[in-house]
Amino acid sequence: MAESGASGASIELENLTKRYPGNPHPSVDNVTMEIKAGETVVFVGPSGCGKSTTLKMINRLIESSGGRVRINGEDVTHMDPVKLRREVGYAIQSSGLFPHMTVAQNISLVPRMIGWSKARIRSRVEELLHLVGLDPGEFHGRHPRQLSRDQQQRVGVARALAADPPVLLMDEPFGAVDPVTRDHLQEGLIRLQRELRKTIVFVTDDFDEAIKLGDRVAVLRERSHIAQFDTPEAILTHPADDFVSGVVGAGAALKRLNLSRVRDVEITACPTATVDDPLQEIFNGLRASGTNEILLLDEHRRPYRWLRRGDLMRARGSLTRAGTPVTATVTRDATLRDALEAVLTDNAGRVPVTGRRGEYEGVVDMETLKHRVHDLLEADRLTAIEHQHALEKTRTPQTPAWQEGGAGAETRS
Ligand code: ADP
Ligand code: MG
Repeated sequence: MAESGASGASIELENLTKRYPGNPHPSVDNVTMEIKAGETVVFVGPSGCGKSTTLKMINRLIESSGGRVRINGEDVTHMDPVKLRREVGYAIQSSGLFPHMTVAQNISLVPRMIGWSKARIRSRVEELLHLVGLDPGEFHGRHPRQLSRDQQQRVGVARALAADPPVLLMDEPFGAVDPVTRDHLQEGLIRLQRELRKTIVFVTDDFDEAIKLGDRVAVLRERSHIAQFDTPEAILTHPADDFVSGVVGAGAALKRLNLSRVRDVEITACPTATVDDPLQEIFNGLRASGTNEILLLDEHRRPYRWLRRGDLMRARGSLTRAGTPVTATVTRDATLRDALEAVLTDNAGRVPVTGRRGEYEGVVDMETLKHRVHDLLEADRLTAIEHQHALEKTRTPQTPAWQEGGAGAETRS
């Protein structure tokens, strides 16, 4: 199967079924679905609907009672368990790290199991810690209890990626962290996935998370029945039925801001200065720019404080306390919804965009976001009008009754 460094593998579920002893109904009932190599598919649905059971049958943490799972065409029931561990990474909520093992030992679990050399393992651990944004020197010898929740989750993801599996299964991996941390982890995963192109099956009960991460989203109802399996756009604009509408919830137009990234809109420049610049130079820069605010960057060129002219006058040499601190930044991978939130939280009317090391790259402003919201609402309005016209057409008297019923049913589906 896939060589090290290769991207994802396809996954096919065929009539996949799970009956737990003592349960009158199957918990997963006849699920058939195709997941393409390199895509991220998110299972979303209410608690108890069978998401975890379905996921765990893919890597046989749970044995199915019927049906089939194929990874790159190969039936997993015939696959050697060691090979299966190598092909399929697995990350869960609350990271599932072993408390008595160091970060490095946790990450290297599967590579050790499949007999990698010490040298290869050492360099892989280092590479993975870099990949998930943790400094190897600082973290490799720590124990899980010496890490924050966010860091534990990162290590959990690194462990799942350790043997470079083409398939990654993630069961509510960000469920137990606060919203800000979750945003960071989600952005991290999006960035990782752009580089790695694994096949990811991700489980969540949070629809917003689903549309943020998924190339396609499977909305599941009881017994893992697929209510709708489509792109986030299609689900938001054409939910298949009332159940899906319920899962989508209110504010579908605003939720579509989750589908656009900062990289999709115009990032503009704003006047900047660094903490080492002489005050007079900053003054001149501000005057020349024709705006009333300048963004002060720290010694690593990270956004630091917003300064207005008055702030500069009062500063008297030291800029470390002048103006207002930058409270929010976004990366190019952030969604426009996150950007909007950041703009609304920060009173500057715009949010700095930063690169991988937090360095300043530009700003996204309120106007840009307003235009995008306006376009989305306008598109919705046009779709609604089209629907209305389609409906009216089917209701004109010359349309035979049998056609009316058919077309009407279609517009609702
Ligand atoms: P989800 O991940 O969507 O919350 P699960 O896959 O964990 O749902 O569970 C699906 C259904 O299967 C639930 O009704 C649950 O009670 C049942 N179930 C899960 N695990 C077991 C088990 N080990 N024994 C019996 N029933 C189980
Ligand atoms: Mg679950």
